Amino acid sequence: MRADGSGSGTLSRLEIDSLKAGVRIEDLAARYVPSLRRVGERWVGLCPFHDDTRPSFNVWPDSQSWYCFGACRRGGDVVDLLREAEGVDFRRALELLGGPPAGATAGRGWQSPLPVAVPRQSEAEPELTCEDRAILNAASEIYYQSLMTNAAMRRALQARGISLGTAQTYHLGYATGRRLARYLAWRHLDLERARCLGLLHDRLSGEDGANGDTSGDDVWEHLSQRLVVPVMRGWETVYLIGRATREAQRPKYLGLALPKEPLTGRGRPRRSQGIIVVEGPFDLLLLHEWGYWRQFELLALLGTQFKRRWLAHVGPDDRLLVATDQDDAGEAAAAELMAHFPGQAVRLRWPEEYKDVGDLAQAPDGHKIWARALSDA
Ligand SMILES: [Zn+2]
Repeated sequence: MRADGSGSGTLSRLEIDSLKAGVRIEDLAARYVPSLRRVGERWVGLCPFHDDTRPSFNVWPDSQSWYCFGACRRGGDVVDLLREAEGVDFRRALELLGGPPAGATAGRGWQSPLPVAVPRQSEAEPELTCEDRAILNAASEIYYQSLMTNAAMRRALQARGISLGTAQTYHLGYATGRRLARYLAWRHLDLERARCLGLLHDRLSGEDGANGDTSGDDVWEHLSQRLVVPVMRGWETVYLIGRATREAQRPKYLGLALPKEPLTGRGRPRRSQGIIVVEGPFDLLLLHEWGYWRQFELLALLGTQFKRRWLAHVGPDDRLLVATDQDDAGEAAAAELMAHFPGQAVRLRWPEEYKDVGDLAQAPDGHKIWARALSDA
């Protein structure tokens, strides 16, 4: 979903992942953040990118990500950290991680690190304890209730083309930023564990409530003031992703300190015409709204990286309709999917002024544009 306008040249997604896996984010961050220290399952220090007096720079080794909760309000992975710290572009950051110099191609003086370095991300199902599941379900529940009683947020959903019915089907929610900790405590659930999952963290006194949270509580809700999409397996919530509700909120999407799981629709319809793969949860929600769940299985990667097991059920005769974003990262993901499923995967195209499927909700004839993209495939 990142539009950095700097392609990765000839590097495959796997090679990029491999370069990223070559460095631990906590080691890299320590170079720029001398004050970095361990607090539970994360690392915290003074942010090197703004005038920080209280440590607001956070690093999560589990997800190999970082985020500044102070003035910056942004974060990312090792590449984003290098880009920010060294003031370089995407391509140069990969070079600093050991990638080929710009212009070089594999086999001409540069060896892909693939044979030695293996992507670290585990392919195994994430293991959530009973308590973890109870906490995630409770969070999803309180967020759902908050959305159902918040007319402004339901209107915001409608503006993205999502009806109340779809919101209920997907159990969408809204994080007010002030209800979760109290609700979990009332349910006698472990707040410390909720911190580990990435739902809550201590508000450090440097944090200014830039998200509009003036509750004065000393606990900060990670998905505060975001529309929340739960990833469900059966009746259980296994992951939550929060979408910004205002332009100024960064990043646009925020997840938990858990391995990401894809958002799936209602499964495979009886007479399936294929699997539509999109990036963002709102891309999937819009396609559901338009009724495509009746003919297609819907899958949102929640980003551009995917694991093989997410697509392990794809049969040799299944068509894969790839509708990832029309930007560098989305094209790279599409190319990777087409390489995985030669002859089965097709790239869908629509007018370039709409970066992702969700943007089509803003077009007066968005549904028609999509139908045309689908029939052209
Ligand atoms: Zn900062």
